[in-house]
Amino acid sequence: MPEPDHHHWMNRAIELARRSPPVPGAFSVGAVIVADGVELATGFSREADPKNHAEEAALAKLDPADPRLRHATLYSTLEPCSERATKTRLPCTDRVLAAGIPAVVIAWREPATFVVNCVGVERLREHGVRVLELPELAEAAMSMNRHLEL
Ligand SMILES: [Zn+2]
Repeated sequence: MPEPDHHHWMNRAIELARRSPPVPGAFSVGAVIVADGVELATGFSREADPKNHAEEAALAKLDPADPRLRHATLYSTLEPCSERATKTRLPCTDRVLAAGIPAVVIAWREPATFVVNCVGVERLREHGVRVLELPELAEAAMSMNRHLEL
């Protein structure tokens, strides 16, 4: 996909992250799932409940059997989590793999603020998911998280 498309959708995810209510214990993240240039679903941190992650919120709006997921791209402002503080809920990395999404685009990697070593990108790549980072948008993706220790 050409760069301008990646920027368009990541800016959409950043806009969604701004809608996430800021809290001291978690990041504000936005996510968009796109296929064939069409927005399939969006999500942001704490959208459905206080523990809700952005990718989780977006995926919950789609039928897991939706065939478009097999060629979709997930845009997330932050690296999908590989471990969760809420142990009863599946990490987003596992959700992406379960959905069969083949491509993930992120703006910044999870810092060690809450989880010492996030290996979301590594885990996704190990399972054949293409992961692209857009460091040029990292600053904008972090802007609504400045109250946290980064
Ligand atoms: Zn997550």
